[in-house]
Amino acid sequence: MKSLWSDAEAATYQGALGLRVYTSRLLGRDKTLVLHGGGNTSVKLREKNLFGEDEDVLYVKGSGWDLETIEAAGFTPVTLSYVRRLAVLERLPDPQMVNELNTHMLRAGAPSPSVETILHAILPHTYVDHTHADAVLAVSNAPEGDKRIREIYGDRVVVIPYIMAGFDLATYCAREFPKRAGRNTIGMVLLSHGVFSFAEDARESYERMIELVSMAEEYLQKKKAWHVPVPKTEPSRVKREDIASLRRAMSDQAGFPMVLKTTQVDKFLGFARRPDVEKLSQQGPATPDHVIRTKPYPMLGRDVAAYARKYREYFEKWAPKAAEKKTMLDVAPRMVLDAEIGFVAAGRSAKDAAIVEELYDHTIDVILRAEALGGWRALDQRHTFDIEYWDLEQAKLRKAGSPPAFTGEVAVVTGAASGIGKACVDAFLKRGAAVVALDRNPAIESLWKRLDVLGLTVDLTDTKAVDEAFDKAVKRFGGIDMLVLNAGIFPASQPLASIGVDAWKQAMTVNVDAPLQLMQLAHPLLRLAPRGGRIAVIGSRNVSAPGPGAAAYSASKAALNQLARVAALEWAKDGIRINSLHPDAVYDTGLWTEDLLNARAKAYSMSVEQYKKRNLLKTEVSSKDVAELAAEMCGPLFAKTTAAQVPVDGGNERVV
Ligand SMILES: [Zn+2]
Repeated sequence: MKSLWSDAEAATYQGALGLRVYTSRLLGRDKTLVLHGGGNTSVKLREKNLFGEDEDVLYVKGSGWDLETIEAAGFTPVTLSYVRRLAVLERLPDPQMVNELNTHMLRAGAPSPSVETILHAILPHTYVDHTHADAVLAVSNAPEGDKRIREIYGDRVVVIPYIMAGFDLATYCAREFPKRAGRNTIGMVLLSHGVFSFAEDARESYERMIELVSMAEEYLQKKKAWHVPVPKTEPSRVKREDIASLRRAMSDQAGFPMVLKTTQVDKFLGFARRPDVEKLSQQGPATPDHVIRTKPYPMLGRDVAAYARKYREYFEKWAPKAAEKKTMLDVAPRMVLDAEIGFVAAGRSAKDAAIVEELYDHTIDVILRAEALGGWRALDQRHTFDIEYWDLEQAKLRKAGSPPAFTGEVAVVTGAASGIGKACVDAFLKRGAAVVALDRNPAIESLWKRLDVLGLTVDLTDTKAVDEAFDKAVKRFGGIDMLVLNAGIFPASQPLASIGVDAWKQAMTVNVDAPLQLMQLAHPLLRLAPRGGRIAVIGSRNVSAPGPGAAAYSASKAALNQLARVAALEWAKDGIRINSLHPDAVYDTGLWTEDLLNARAKAYSMSVEQYKKRNLLKTEVSSKDVAELAAEMCGPLFAKTTAAQVPVDGGNERVV
């Protein structure tokens, strides 16, 4: 492992706190050191208060910040002397510890300081760095891990047995560290948890971390336990419905819809197919705090009910041994290892699922390296339970409000690169859904750079391409709950007498045939949606009030409307609702250029402003108005409604 320190980069950060930000980010950049909010850092500074007196302040990582992207605002200042005094108390329950830390912050509105704050405070050094390095965990979780750690580090680190993070760990270290630290000590290893380094200088503290982790890596190399070969695997062909069924079963057990991310890369699929996968995977996480996101162990195969039973047994075994009454979490797995499907990560959002996958990616490395050292041994299940059901986590549970309406659900939107489609993507994202955005325009692939949007370039009239897009969607998010049929074309105005066959056919192909195929492909997935499938059809005012010169458009939209009505009749038994909305005069779309608007307004002898508002309510209808209605029609407000046709046109006397 190499130091990423650069003098040029460091020079762009100001002062002692600035360098603390810089080296924290350097740690965060290396995923083998810390992952997703894991690890924490601090710096002790002497500052003048308002009365001109010197005060010792501990700046420690605040909760909710990630080391990779932390800023100065992510470090919470607390009164060092007070926090140090806490360590001499006999007893301090963790919720009370959090209260003491929160009431001794020196900046109102700062994030809650890390639960490892007292530990940072009692270490005498200016800079303190803490990570959950993969290499240290691999050694520590091998047979005689304790002995191996001492063999690697000698008197360079103080070795601390496993104690849960929080007050107990901090007081133990406050007692033991001064006794055991010597002249050569540059760090501390917490068995089965992680590693600390410290120094008076930001760079030195960071580079000591690199040095300590490198020593563990070299040890693994020496023992031929570093490069663990990944077998070549032949992925099985997995049906979309198999993944969607699994998602349905897991969501039913959880009591809420979940996003599932599937991977079949060699590393995961190879691990899932190992003959000893049960022994390796069922012991516990690589470091205890993963359990909050991953649950204690993955599900093997697809028997979700059996997993739920086993999880209840685990809860019932350990809950009575805890000091306070515990509330059982949902019983659905967050990880699945299946010889055919590969690895499946699950979460309440696409981001949660992606994090679970990354955590297990590193967990496999730790497990296989420890295995190569003689046998992977996870921390005792009791300790894992203590973290999963920690008071502080249980308190979060009690405080959590209800999430956005579409949390854990997946929507497919067609014609999503512009206009109404683009606005639909935003409307569904705002309500917590993950969105598969389809469009002919390749710009779709990078319009939203976020984990909960999958943008795919697809010509909807290309049957094979649409089929492949559905494969990708299900692999990425686990299924489809909602489908917004928005893509359509508006052929150039032509009197009926002179419409060419090609123009007519093209309107039918794009506006009718393509939606039919999308509905057919979506149907088996929509019927597996945990809360029932929904389709929102973007129709047109032309369905009930066609215009001269728009025969192909009006006829194709009317055909689509009939399709939607028949689908509502046929698929109600599958719990699928289909509702249509009929927009008119939406001018902020790609169809309408400035010139076209001017020309149309002139034809009506109106100003553009008047032209846009020529409806009963004299109001302008935007893409966003249409998208919001489409989203609502998929939401709880329309839960008892199917086959509705709602105009969104400002009121049109020909429709009324
Ligand atoms: Zn830690």
